[in-house]
Amino acid sequence: MISFESRDIFFAHRGKRAVFVRFVKITYLCVWKKRPMAKGMRYNDFSTFLSKEFSYKVQKISVNAGFTCPNRDGTKGFGGCTYCNNQTFNPAYCHVEKSIARQLEDGKAFFSRKYPQMHYLAYFQAYTNTYAEVDKLRQMYEEALSVDGIEGIIIGTRPDCVSDELLDYLAELNRKTFLLVEYGIESASDKTLQMINRGHTFACTKDAFKRTKEHGIRAGGHVILGLPGEDHEELMRQTKQISELPLVTLKLHQLQLIKGTRMALEYKQNPEMFHLYAADEYVETVIDYLERLRPDIVLERFVSQSPKELLIAPDWGMKNYEFTERLKRRLEERDTWQGKYYEGN
Ligand code: SF4
Repeated sequence: MISFESRDIFFAHRGKRAVFVRFVKITYLCVWKKRPMAKGMRYNDFSTFLSKEFSYKVQKISVNAGFTCPNRDGTKGFGGCTYCNNQTFNPAYCHVEKSIARQLEDGKAFFSRKYPQMHYLAYFQAYTNTYAEVDKLRQMYEEALSVDGIEGIIIGTRPDCVSDELLDYLAELNRKTFLLVEYGIESASDKTLQMINRGHTFACTKDAFKRTKEHGIRAGGHVILGLPGEDHEELMRQTKQISELPLVTLKLHQLQLIKGTRMALEYKQNPEMFHLYAADEYVETVIDYLERLRPDIVLERFVSQSPKELLIAPDWGMKNYEFTERLKRRLEERDTWQGKYYEGN
């Protein structure tokens, strides 16, 4: 039995408790609601995104379907993007002389040794994977989807290479399977896009994302951090433009100089034009970028890993997962997270 006096203390205590509970709730709403990421994560990671889509584990298998690129054959431009050497795209199992189905079967055999229960997504990665007639594309995508264990497709392409006719077909496909169209954005600055010979503008990128969304199709993108002329301030500005795109997933890549590219030659002639990140500096730059990014964007990766024999610089000698671990540690140390300083709606 509680005495009158002790009941007063009890209610006073309950009052404090209620205030405390309210404070926790408000903090949760203000902070965590702005952080729509998995428990314990400080950014939206791709594995969690996939685990919401599939009740089993999925792994991407790269496919080289033998496409070319309109920025190489003269349709959009000649010579390609100055940083591009397409040899960096292809894993060992992925040879163009093999059919799409064969490449996927080989990829499955490679991964299933370690993970027998794994399911897969066909990743049309090399060159421009929408650069053909719609009937031909239909045949290729559907060949991939006919392979046992392939649960969906990811199509890498350029923003200036998606017609409405193609999007109509992809919308149909999207109703039947998992589909993600991945656009090379690379930069939000037209000056930079011109300098790296992309052959399209940022307005073209915005248009592609808008039309893809209107067709109900999920879109992802990738950007390169550290392109010539893009300093830290420019990258922070870029976060706003990227956040405004209706993109679902994003890949960030550090600028790498690859043998046999026009950029490698430019570097040799004018090294002062380039700022190649050291690993620690890049970690901090990525965190600054994440802090300003829309909080619901899913980050698929933060670094590219070109084959050692093709890489000129920077060579960090670090695997993708090692970089991610370092990034997570620094996010903790800085007590920060994706979207912390996001200024959009
Ligand atoms: S990066 Fe893509 S668009 Fe640019 S040249 Fe290479 S394949 Fe073509």
